[in-house]
Formats: sequence, structure tokens, C-alpha cells
Amino acid sequence: MTFDIQSIREDFPILSHQVYNKPLVYLDNAATTQKPRCVVEKIENGYYNVNANIHRGVHFLSQEATEAHEEARRTVQRFLNARSSNEIIFTRGTTESINLVASSFTDECMSAGDEVIVSVMEHHSNIVPWQIQAAKKGISLRVIPMNDKGELLLDEYRKLFTEKTRLVAVTQVSNVLGTVNPVKEIIAIAHEQGVPVLVDGAQSTPHMKVDVQDLDAEFFVFSGHKIYGPTGIGVLYGKEEWLDKLPPYQGGGEMIATVSFEKTVFNELPFKFEAGTPDYIGSTALAEALHYVEKIGMDRIAAQEQDLLEYATAQLKQIEGMRIFGEAADKGAVISFLVGNIHHYDMGMLLDRLGIAVRTGHHCAQPLMQALGIEGTVRASFSFYNTREEVDVLVRGIERVRQMFG
Ligand code: PMP
Repeated sequence: MTFDIQSIREDFPILSHQVYNKPLVYLDNAATTQKPRCVVEKIENGYYNVNANIHRGVHFLSQEATEAHEEARRTVQRFLNARSSNEIIFTRGTTESINLVASSFTDECMSAGDEVIVSVMEHHSNIVPWQIQAAKKGISLRVIPMNDKGELLLDEYRKLFTEKTRLVAVTQVSNVLGTVNPVKEIIAIAHEQGVPVLVDGAQSTPHMKVDVQDLDAEFFVFSGHKIYGPTGIGVLYGKEEWLDKLPPYQGGGEMIATVSFEKTVFNELPFKFEAGTPDYIGSTALAEALHYVEKIGMDRIAAQEQDLLEYATAQLKQIEGMRIFGEAADKGAVISFLVGNIHHYDMGMLLDRLGIAVRTGHHCAQPLMQALGIEGTVRASFSFYNTREEVDVLVRGIERVRQMFG
């Protein structure tokens, strides 16, 4: 398979930057990805040439901007293979999408004593919104445990269902361990019990093909900025029958059909969940990012990232005192590690001085850190635009830090 990394890297101007007079080695892609030129140009063009508030205008520009926003919705629909563009709601990101579902679903479908099943490896954004509802409504969380490799225990998961279980909310890929969870099976098990499922796709959508109909998820969420799109835009996919059933999350313009002081009639889908002026520049830039990803090809992206994962894992394992967290059989290109007694923060700071951008800390997954019995890790996360040479720089950097600490 040919994969012209150099020409791909030229699409991302930031990748040729220097930091501290060293070439930047950007290995923090699970936090956010860099943006290709076409996405930035789409934003620039949007503000220079197409900008007008959408949906309400009779004038030319407003109609053009409206059409671009709705075309972006259809792009997301095709990308996720959703049945209808009514099932695509634009939000600010994964966090807002989950908060929306947590709030609206709990209002409509849950009462005191009811339960939501999550997993031990959830990001805070798939824990805290449920806890906020728990405090308001008296619902509670049940947690799927994992084995030493960082794989969810499906037998234990089956045992968590009770007649009070109303929803399963689980991540498709762990942002810390890289574990690719068998969400299709997780969903099928929930459906046997008549329970709907929300999938957090923040870390999966950029790296693998997602087909929401094949998964049969009731809700699926992701963030634009992790898939080469802009910050501040994300997606909630929901099966139409579920979105129809749920009450709006926020009130305001766009989401209404008629308003009087006596009574408001809400708008139809998808507008019922998009109160206020949407980020119509962000939505079109996200669509541009999805086109870019499709042009490169998800199969090629996945193959390149798997190659980097395998190469990096093998190299890192040569380092004395190396502990890698997460050795699932099905794993994405995220490596969390600690070396000897070196604090993750010290490692991250010193790697930074060598031009290497990694993330340190709990990665917004403190309950997972508690389960692992650690405070944090160093995390290197890869994109298809990374190279084996960059892995070599990382490995040499870690070795240097290790020697500094004796
Ligand atoms: N879930 C997972 C698995 C994530 O990795 C992240 C981002 N680190 C989020 C949710 C939250 O995404 P955002 O901050 O874009 O809303």
C-alpha cells in the first residue's frame, strides 16, 4: 500500500513547525488533531464569502449559508450512514452531545432508582453528566469492569442489568488505553434486555469506519476537532424515533415552530435540538474535514496508524522500566505509559523540551486511574500523518529522560 506521508504532511502546515529549535513531533492527537489547509480555508471562505445567519433569511447569502449548513448535515449523515439527516444534530462537541442526551433522556425516560450502565474507562464527559442527573433525579450508575489488559468484561456487564436499567453509555475507544470496545456486541446485549445505548465515538470516529445502522446504536456522539475539523462543533446522532420522543435540551430561536406567551410548539427534527444560531461555519468546515478523511480513505488511515502503534509498542518495550497501560487485543493508536519511578509530568515536560508533544496526567479519566492504581500516565497518541521517524524521536527522548533520572 502506498501512502505518501510527505505530501499528506504538507496539508498540515503546523507539522513543519519548530519548537525550542527542534522539529515539532506532535503526538497528542487524542486530545485534538491538527487541521489540514482545506479545513482552515473553508472557515476563511465561510466568513469572507458566505456569512449570513441561516434559516431565517430571505436574502441570497442567508439561503446560501443555510444550504451549506444543511449540506454539511447530509455529509455527516452519509459519513455515519444514518438513515436520515433529521438524525444528525449539531452540538459543540462530544461533551455537549452527552449532556444533551443525559438531560433529555433522564427527563423523559428515568425516575428515582433507575440505572445507567457505563464502563470503568469512560472519559469524565460520559460520567459527570449522568452524576448531575443522579443528584437531581436519584438515578445511579453501574460500572462495567475490565481485565488487566484493559478489556471490558462482558460477562460482568451482562450481570449489571436489572429491571431498573434504562440506558447503557459506553465509549467505543478508550482515550487512555486505546482499547477498542466491542460496542456492536455491547449494544446487542443491551437490546436483548430492551435497553438503548449511547456510544461515545470521540476516539473512534477519526480512526475507523463507523456505521450507526450496523452498530444499531440509539445515540452516537463525536467531536469535530478530533477528526481534523474545527473546535466548537460536534455531532449527536440519534435514531429518529428516540429524538422525536425526547424533550428539547435548550430553548430559544430555531428550535420552535410557534411561540406565544401561553404556549410554545417546538420545531421538528433536527431543529428541535439546535436552539440559537448554530455554528454554520463550523459545520461546513467539519464536513470539509470529513471529505478530507474520506479522500485519504479510512482503511489507509487505520493501516498507517496500526503500523505506528505496533512499531512504537515494540520500540517502547525495549526501554528499561517501561510500563504500558492497555494491551487489548483490539487497540487503537494510543499508548499510555510510565517509566520506572519518573513522574508522568516530569517526563512530559522534558519531552516537550525535545520538541515532542505528549499528554500527561489523568486524561479526564480519574476513575480509570483509580482502577489502575496510578495517578496518571504519559500518553502518546498517533494520527496517520505521524511517521516511524517520529516514533524513533520519541523513543530516543524517553531514553534520554530515563538516563537523566539515573
Ligand atoms: N470522550 C472521549 C473518549 C474523549 O477522548 C473526549 C476528549 N478527550 C471526550 C469524550 C470529550 O470530547 P470534547 O472535549 O471534544 O467534548
